[in-house]
Amino acid sequence: MQRIAIIGAGLSGVTLANSLKEHFKISLFEKSYSPGGRIASRNVEPYSFDHGAQYFKVKSKAFQDLINPLLSENVVAPWQARFVEMCNQGITKQTLWDDKHPHYVGVPNNRAFVEHLSRGLSITLHSRVVEMKKVNQQWALKAEGDAPLGLFDWVVCAMPVPQTQALLAKANLKYNAISDIKMQACYALMLGFEDKMDLGFDAAMVKDETISWISNNSSKPMREKGFNLLINSTNDWADTHFNQNDDWVIEGMKSTVSNIINQDLSNPQFCALKRWKYANCKRQDEQPYLIDNTNKIGLCGDWFMGGRIESAFKSGHQLALAMLKNAHV
Ligand SMILES: Cc1cc2nc3c(=O)[nH]c(=O)nc-3n(C[C@H](O)[C@H](O)[C@H](O)COP(=O)(O)OP(=O)(O)OC[C@H]3O[C@@H](n4cnc5c(N)ncnc54)[C@H](O)[C@@H]3O)c2cc1C
Repeated sequence: MQRIAIIGAGLSGVTLANSLKEHFKISLFEKSYSPGGRIASRNVEPYSFDHGAQYFKVKSKAFQDLINPLLSENVVAPWQARFVEMCNQGITKQTLWDDKHPHYVGVPNNRAFVEHLSRGLSITLHSRVVEMKKVNQQWALKAEGDAPLGLFDWVVCAMPVPQTQALLAKANLKYNAISDIKMQACYALMLGFEDKMDLGFDAAMVKDETISWISNNSSKPMREKGFNLLINSTNDWADTHFNQNDDWVIEGMKSTVSNIINQDLSNPQFCALKRWKYANCKRQDEQPYLIDNTNKIGLCGDWFMGGRIESAFKSGHQLALAMLKNAHV
């Protein structure tokens, strides 16, 4: 069996691994302490925050086929949120997210859904790949600390595009097709409160502010314990202020949201900030993956199409189909 290294255990890498595992020997390397990537969750009793992706929708049959069994196993569930759009501190539109157009989340948190899909895969965690080098006809990978990770016939980068480009540059590889794709930052503010608040909504898309999203994370299924809010900055604001320290960002975001929802959020029981340097990218209609048969390199990730969970799935899934076709299996 040919050996494939997949760098990054977000949804695109895990989808690829699951689609190829019958035909190739797959090794996943992940720098973090768990799979999931930007589908991320943090538990701090009694709070549970999804501080990466908030929810997802399903458009394609292939993605629906993946999600259907997860719904039956209660790993994914619809979030029946009271959704609003806000502008100038007022509500401009409201809808109830119902079963007709479901908005899904992982259960009991978003990361759990990718962890579930990762079961049985060979994943080396805490392993940041920092070097890939051709040795004879194979790729030799190294992690931080000069740790050798083995020899592989193929390498697939399933990381955000700037991290992909940086690693490829070490092997003197550059692909023009991806050189102009940019990613933007985002701040996620996590606030936990002793007492519940009624905001009049569960999820709000905010327009014309430095905040883009406010949600009552505890309104998602199976997260009833501690009342908490998850707030996202806009990508532009995070890009502009990415060098500011945490306290400055937290105070700025808390005060902006307090004004928008007309509630005093200055004294939460729990407060933390997550800085996503590579959070999102603009929507584009490129081929959803890249394959270089000469060098035996594959690239996948949401950024081929735009920062959405289904884009990550589609990219990993379609790269897998292309690799299986090449291998005549
Ligand atoms: C704040 C925020 C909110 C979002 N909200 C939504 C939403 O509501 N709905 C939606 O559909 N999408 C949302 N998204 C986007 C969604 O999270 C992504 O589209 C999707 O998770 C991307 O998956 P991926 O596998 O392409 O990349 P990632 O999830 O980024 O996975 C890449 C993995 O590679 C690992 N890695 C990177 N470098 C290395 C290295 N050198 N060695 C080893 N491992 C490495 C990373 O740790 C990571 O686990 C949001 C994203 C963010 C950040």
